[in-house]
Amino acid sequence: MLNIKQSRREFLAYCSKIAALLGGGVQMSADFAEAFMKITQKQPPVIWMTGQACTGDSVSLVYSDSPSLVPFLSTLIDLKFHPALSVAQGEVAIDIIEEQKNAGGYILCFEGAIPMQMPGACKFNEKFLSDYLYDVVKKAFAVIACGTCASYGGIPAANPETGAISIAEYVKQKGLSTPVVRIPGCPMNAHRFTGTVAYFLAYNKLPQLDEDGRPVLYYGKTNHDNCQRFPYFAQDKCLTDYSEKSLCLYRMGCKGPVTKSDCPVRRWNKETSWCVASNTPCVGCTNPEWPWPKDTGIYRDPKKILPEENFIQETIRLKKI
Ligand code: SF4
Ligand code: SF4
Repeated sequence: MLNIKQSRREFLAYCSKIAALLGGGVQMSADFAEAFMKITQKQPPVIWMTGQACTGDSVSLVYSDSPSLVPFLSTLIDLKFHPALSVAQGEVAIDIIEEQKNAGGYILCFEGAIPMQMPGACKFNEKFLSDYLYDVVKKAFAVIACGTCASYGGIPAANPETGAISIAEYVKQKGLSTPVVRIPGCPMNAHRFTGTVAYFLAYNKLPQLDEDGRPVLYYGKTNHDNCQRFPYFAQDKCLTDYSEKSLCLYRMGCKGPVTKSDCPVRRWNKETSWCVASNTPCVGCTNPEWPWPKDTGIYRDPKKILPEENFIQETIRLKKI
């Protein structure tokens, strides 16, 4: 039984909510119900580890809703260790991870980047994280790169005194074969995490990934494709002063046209809003080169980074409006 206090109706409603995170309907909901009933007999072990990070992805996860985190953690996965959520710390925590490492077959959730050229910047169990991670990654069934730092290097890799790299790049450099799913975002949207894990639990395989290792479901289209302000973009009605509201933010440096993400429909804070809806340009935080590409980084004057004037017309033409 999923949860002894949960009625059948509540359980099925819970499965529907998780299926909705994946855009699934009745069939997926039924698949989840069947799979989750079996999972509760033996929940898959999960270890969460952190490198160079601000812990924003963990905070985002804690604030997840619909479904909220507690039933997810208590019923579908066996979270062995999380640096912020677990009571276990110090030697006890190390023992837990060592035990799991020896057993193998867990999901490793990794948050942050790995300092390869300044290894002392991140240590675990008195060892450099860059060394300690090798066996932890090798024995994992799969790695979930939580957030942009873990996916692509993010802010720690933007001006890389520490030689920071992503966990995906780490796997590649070390010649490991553990599959990696990237869930970029600064921070990671918790729905994309729980949806990806739920899909894996139900179907025993990873969801379809794009060429950058991201679930297509969440990163298959650009923010621009789904933006509520697109009609203004199409008419070249862009705001040039933030006191104006509602118009397209393209001329303020919005990266929506080149940012693959489902933020306009997934949204944040109980699905209330997203960057553009709060009159802020998308800075492209799910992009592999974020935040500091030389030509278009977030710290550049947007007036100096506007693409060619015909970009708007060309984008409209491609969308066949
Ligand atoms: S440029 Fe930005 S604000 Fe304008 S339509 Fe595209 S995503 Fe929306
Ligand atoms: S709208 Fe852009 S900057 Fe905002 S969270 Fe989404 S991808 Fe990141």
